[in-house]
Amino acid sequence: TNNTLRHLFTHPLFSSSRFIGTLVVAEHEGGSLTAASLSSVAAANKFLSQDNSLSLLLAGSGPSLHDAAANAASCHPSVSQVLVADSDRFKHHLAEPWAKLIHLVQQKDEYSHIVTASSTFGKNILPRAAALLDVSPVTDVIEISDPKTFVRPIYAGNALCTLRYTGSDPCMLTIRTTSFPVAPASPDSKTGAAPIHQVDLSTFGEDGNSKFVKQTSQESERPDLGTARVVVTGGRALKSAENFKMIEKLAEKLGAAVGATRAAVDAGYVPNELQVGQTGKIVAPELYMAFGVSGAIQHIAGMRDSKVIVAVNKDADAPIFQVADYGLVGDLFEIIPELLEKLPEK
Ligand code: FAD
Repeated sequence: TNNTLRHLFTHPLFSSSRFIGTLVVAEHEGGSLTAASLSSVAAANKFLSQDNSLSLLLAGSGPSLHDAAANAASCHPSVSQVLVADSDRFKHHLAEPWAKLIHLVQQKDEYSHIVTASSTFGKNILPRAAALLDVSPVTDVIEISDPKTFVRPIYAGNALCTLRYTGSDPCMLTIRTTSFPVAPASPDSKTGAAPIHQVDLSTFGEDGNSKFVKQTSQESERPDLGTARVVVTGGRALKSAENFKMIEKLAEKLGAAVGATRAAVDAGYVPNELQVGQTGKIVAPELYMAFGVSGAIQHIAGMRDSKVIVAVNKDADAPIFQVADYGLVGDLFEIIPELLEKLPEK
């Protein structure tokens, strides 16, 4: 009968050894999970239920990986297990091996959801992994209404789209980290309780066609643009890399990160990694200061969620004033030196 069958399949002998739940694909740095990965965990928490638990996938090599795994195991009371893929091939975040790794883990464990941050890392690997798994990823999610219903911005953030995922499992998401703040760890959260398992890579096979050549990054004492509490941004009005140093000085005094518009980046005043906007970084600091920024829709798309926006522009009709909480019509070449003079040394 149906009843006997049901009993048979729920008997421990027949229950699958597979781990059903949500998989967070995480990044680590210096032996800890990145802030973006903690936001992914916060988002994945929305799927948690009695029969949907949370696993975290970490990969790379060396002591930093194992420190990060231990850190991840204790990072959140809802993490049920940490999967570790220990191999040099994952060290440099190349999309090919990472996508293959996600495919391998999914084939074994059959997760219902796979979540990662909408960071350079996530945007690079998730679409490729989704193609291998033959599903359509849902990107840039800002709200999870239910396990299959998501909200994401469209038209450079000018409209929000609510969509229902009707594809097969796994439902793969990249989430916008600014929309999933990380709750501070509560004192009673468990520590080190989640088991850490090694991913079996014996069937991994050949590496892909791409090869790591080198990585260059700007060494900076300043906070990271994506997570800074204060961001000071300069636009084309700065006119030169030399003048842009004023923005850097101001940022230094305020303990802020430096941002730039695409026009400032294209003109070569600052490197590309400082670009804020639709095709740059999405930021949501507590204070965003924009100097000589017109407020093009593509720039606003990257900073409109900032808590307090201050704009300085000599054109009273500049669109940036429409989103600014405080606006000052004036010449930045007078206002910044005045600010620098009046602000105390850090
Ligand atoms: P401008 O628009 O030239 O504005 C300069 C402003 O400075 C003006 O408002 C002017 O009044 C003011 N000003 C001039 N002199 C002074 C002074 N002495 N004191 C005070 N104010 C002064 N842009 C981004 O920023 N990020 C993106 O990610 C991005 N992605 C894009 C993607 C696409 C597909 C496209 C088409 C465009 C994108 N852009 C992006 C470009 C965007 O459309 C704008 O061209 C750019 O943001 C303008 O930069 P800006 O405000 O520095 O320059």
